[in-house]
Amino acid sequence: METPVTSGPSRDRARALLEGAYGLTGTLERLPGENENYRVDTPDGRRFVLKIAGSDQTAAAIELETQVVELAHAADIGIAFPRVVRTASGAVTAEATTPDGPGLRARLLDFVPGVAWSDAPAATRDQRIDLGRTLARFDRALDGVRLPAARRTHRWDLTAAGRHRSNISLIADPQRRRIVEALFHLHAAVAQPRLARLPHGVIHGDANDENVFVDGGRVSGLIDFGDCLLNPMVCELAIALPYAMLDADDPLARGADVVAGYDAERPLSLAELQVLFPLVCGRLAVTVTVCAERRRIDPDRSSWFVTEDRAWALISRLSAGDPADAGRRLAAPTGLDPHPTTGAPKATLLEARRRRIGRALSIAYDDPLKIVRGSGPYLYDDRGRPFLDLVNNVCHVGHCHPRVVEAGQRQMAVLNTNTRYLYDGLTEYADRLCATLPDRLDTCFLLNSGSEANELALRLAMTHTGRRDLLVVDGAYHGHTSTLIAISPYKFMGRGGPGRPESWVHVVPIADGYRGRHRGRDLATGRAYGDDVGRVLDGIGRPVAGFITESLLSCGGQVIPPPGYLARAFEHVRAVGGLCIIDEVQVGFGRVGSHVWAFQLQDVVPDIVVMGKPIGNGHPMAAVVTTRAIADSFANGMEFFTTFGGNPVSCAIGMAVLDVMRDEALQAHALDVGTRLRDGLAGLMDVDPRIGDVRGEGLFIGVELVRDRLTLEPARDEADRLVNLMKERGMLLSTDGPHGNVIKIKPPMVLDAEDVDMVVRSFADVLAEIPR
Ligand code: PMP
Repeated sequence: METPVTSGPSRDRARALLEGAYGLTGTLERLPGENENYRVDTPDGRRFVLKIAGSDQTAAAIELETQVVELAHAADIGIAFPRVVRTASGAVTAEATTPDGPGLRARLLDFVPGVAWSDAPAATRDQRIDLGRTLARFDRALDGVRLPAARRTHRWDLTAAGRHRSNISLIADPQRRRIVEALFHLHAAVAQPRLARLPHGVIHGDANDENVFVDGGRVSGLIDFGDCLLNPMVCELAIALPYAMLDADDPLARGADVVAGYDAERPLSLAELQVLFPLVCGRLAVTVTVCAERRRIDPDRSSWFVTEDRAWALISRLSAGDPADAGRRLAAPTGLDPHPTTGAPKATLLEARRRRIGRALSIAYDDPLKIVRGSGPYLYDDRGRPFLDLVNNVCHVGHCHPRVVEAGQRQMAVLNTNTRYLYDGLTEYADRLCATLPDRLDTCFLLNSGSEANELALRLAMTHTGRRDLLVVDGAYHGHTSTLIAISPYKFMGRGGPGRPESWVHVVPIADGYRGRHRGRDLATGRAYGDDVGRVLDGIGRPVAGFITESLLSCGGQVIPPPGYLARAFEHVRAVGGLCIIDEVQVGFGRVGSHVWAFQLQDVVPDIVVMGKPIGNGHPMAAVVTTRAIADSFANGMEFFTTFGGNPVSCAIGMAVLDVMRDEALQAHALDVGTRLRDGLAGLMDVDPRIGDVRGEGLFIGVELVRDRLTLEPARDEADRLVNLMKERGMLLSTDGPHGNVIKIKPPMVLDAEDVDMVVRSFADVLAEIPR
């Protein structure tokens, strides 16, 4: 435990205390290290350590240390411990108060023979194995003991390493920042989510090279119990490993020796081995970040920086390879493989795709990713690297959310059939869905994809009105069927498209207050765009079936229409008897934070709402919700049926998604972290003029890059570059918008504040890397 160094009591006061409380005399020699400790040699040849308590050490913490040492000693694991020598009156601590100064508290401890690992000759393999063995014996000795005071955290608690991440910005060198960011990311994404389920026990928690004593090539003692706490036991090993790996050409081979010793005494489980390397990385990241923090406080205090350079050297060796390989090498002595390779390598898959899959299907990134696992906001590739998923709004409540998975599995094992039978799920789910919507939207159709749902929405509008013409928004995408391509300017105006709308499709301008025909984010701008809809209507010369738009424009460039837009547009459409269709496939289900549905931001009630993507958290599912009257017109004798839509499994999954959203309060969370992310990115506008605009609602955010803030010349190449560099740093983004210069952000709703801050820091660093 770290103790702030104060001017400190003099040796004389310590000597007086020694005599007063313990009746001992002798020579006192200050020991090296951060804390004020004295070696005491009594005239009769006995040796102790007098340990002055730091002002921040509570009685409970001291009591905990004492108990842990006694328990370890009692277990007789073959090494020495600094047991407490009680005062003449039987107390653990001796206290002296002075009339002028603060009280002095101290403990007298048994002297532990040997020298610190750091001062001993270079460790042999046997010594490393012995280290592992000793730590495992210690952990076993304390396994199962109940020490309520050990339920605590402190600065070096490896399960809370993330609290240091905000200090990454104190590291001056951008390359070092990048590496440390990646270490923390690995810890957060791979280790953190698994820690709670690992076996816990009271651990020493700081088996560094100054606290492990050796004698004749064997571990002889363990000192400084100030950091002991209840933790996953594997943290003990992870904390010790970096010190055993310092200065090595092949650090993982050295680390594996320690693992071998540990595993021989306390066999490590596969789950523990899966987190071991990420934990080691977390510990190293904390070490160098704390150094950066301390440098700001006192750059001349050399004792603070003794391992810093060596830690950086180790970090650079460990970062050179893949995390999966590193994990495998550390685990080698156990015979277990924490990262078994499954399936074909990337190159083989690419080749197979070329042979077997239609070429029109694209693949993301210059160097494509092979993803093998997903969890929470993270995806993991075949090399064991985690990626923060910032674009996938499908896995809404987190990748592979266990409650959603379980709901699907459970229902799949009982019944899956179609909507021609009665079962509870369909109507139960429809009730739940309608409860989130304005009252008049009370009738549901369940389908399998956003495209299918938009198709049905168009049929509903056309059947209800008996008309065909449709208003669509410039830059919009609504799906991949023939009809939907025909109403998606994103496609028909884009590459491979006919370049003009069919006669029944009428394009209205995109309500983009940043680069569109009306600029601004006020009511007047919103209404001006709304009136554009009226103008296009007037030009058609015949009544239309309706108007379809997303509430916020995704493919159009993450555009947030100005207030008043939809209300005015809807007025014009309804004045000619048209229906207003809202596509919430991308933006719905609480993403915008302030509301469940993004159209609610505009204070309108549509006639038809289309839902998809997040509705089943990745299970193919979609819905159309409309009014009873519109649904009734559609019931004109032609039967509506889809084999899979609304099946019991889909309904169970849909319900689980709603349950998780409610129980994890994800809508409020989206507002919280989304605002943090938007504001953080907006803050970078002062640093880099290429960030032309940052806009967003909740976790739907767009960052528009420009070469010139006046001409708004799109910075498309820069946007592409940024996305690829962010991917190299473990964050997945994409670009969109008519000029391809908008960074699209729409992550799973479970992203946390630490991840948000990583994105903002990395965004700044990556932009700085891209030449202006
Ligand atoms: N509407 C919007 C706004 C979309 O973004 C998409 C898909 N990207 C769709 C509809 C079509 O959904 P799906 O791909 O599930 O057919």
